[in-house]
Amino acid sequence: MKKIYFDYAATTPTDPEVLAAMEPYFFDKFGNASSLHAYGQEAKKAIEDSREALSGFIGASPEEIVFTSGGTESDNFALLGSAYALEKKGNHIITSAIEHHAITEPAKFLEKKGFKVTYLKVDKAGLVSPQDLKEAITEKTILVSIMQANNEIGTLQPIAELGKIAKEKGIYFHTDAVQTIGHIPVNVDELNVDLLSLSAHKFYGPKGVGALYIRKGRRLETFMRGGDQERGRRGSTYNTTGIVGLGKAIQLCQKNMADEIKLQSVLRDKLIREIPARIPEVKLNGHPVKRLPNNVNFSIKYIEGESILLNLDLLGIACSTGSACTSSSLEPSHVLLATGLDHATAHGSVRITLGRWTKESDIDYFLEKFPQIVQKLRAMSPLYEKS
Ligand code: PLP
Repeated sequence: MKKIYFDYAATTPTDPEVLAAMEPYFFDKFGNASSLHAYGQEAKKAIEDSREALSGFIGASPEEIVFTSGGTESDNFALLGSAYALEKKGNHIITSAIEHHAITEPAKFLEKKGFKVTYLKVDKAGLVSPQDLKEAITEKTILVSIMQANNEIGTLQPIAELGKIAKEKGIYFHTDAVQTIGHIPVNVDELNVDLLSLSAHKFYGPKGVGALYIRKGRRLETFMRGGDQERGRRGSTYNTTGIVGLGKAIQLCQKNMADEIKLQSVLRDKLIREIPARIPEVKLNGHPVKRLPNNVNFSIKYIEGESILLNLDLLGIACSTGSACTSSSLEPSHVLLATGLDHATAHGSVRITLGRWTKESDIDYFLEKFPQIVQKLRAMSPLYEKS
């Protein structure tokens, strides 16, 4: 059976070149990077090389990078670290209604601890308005956290403009760049950000490793207390293999990104054009042009995203939906609801995300099979009958 992976936003395969770069650090070069002997120093050097590769890629200095266990830890570190470092200055945080749970959950936790959080609404395309941000800022605002690209609908926020607003007021600005690093150019100065989260498994690196960029001079309360690794900012023995993998993955993105953007945008646009041409009553979610080069998200009226997914899976095609029953609730995606979709339409969403190994023949196969699945499911749908 054919196997087609269209879920690169969930995770990417580790590039074989990344795997090869990591391999020596499991056995031959296994030293603890904090040790003074040659084993330790060899590992330390590899970690610092990765730090340099990453910082160069985002226009930062190596000392501004703290390696973490991934996007979730980086987001938690940014929010909790800022909140507790700045609580004497103020207790107000601004974020958006469409952030990943790695932001909304620590934000809710902080609300329980007495912080006030404003969740900025978004428009139909998922965009945050700079004017809304200006109006939400108070004397107590200490942090703004807005994701660079949304993981479900791919909408790209005007981060440079939003960051500038926070900068002019002396407020920390954090962006969750987990979906953008390695997929579009990112420069921390151009974006006016103080803090930026990223995760290696989203750009062909291994799982369980990421980083938080912390602009020089910005204070964060330490989140992971322990040894003095990462210059006292994060305890825990260095994850040498993971960090080496992250560094290699960044180098490969540096080399391939421009070509991948071109190729994936063409394939993305083919899907965006052809799906509505072949299937009636579908709605593109997200922004028509301000979107990630690899993201397509449609609501297919009258049917459930999960049924579509299971039917695609039977044909070997892996996609994703915003209607997944998380923690046994049947709530559809908070992102789709925030863009104004009703529950039924939000339940019928399918996300198709492309990546390094996507071929045009995969897109063609999908375009052949997808309308057949929709037709079959609609024929069984009581909602479709009534329409
Ligand atoms: N932020 C966004 C936008 C994401 O898409 C994800 C992962 O899906 C995360 C944070 C969490 O990253 P990680 O899986 O590395 O913890």
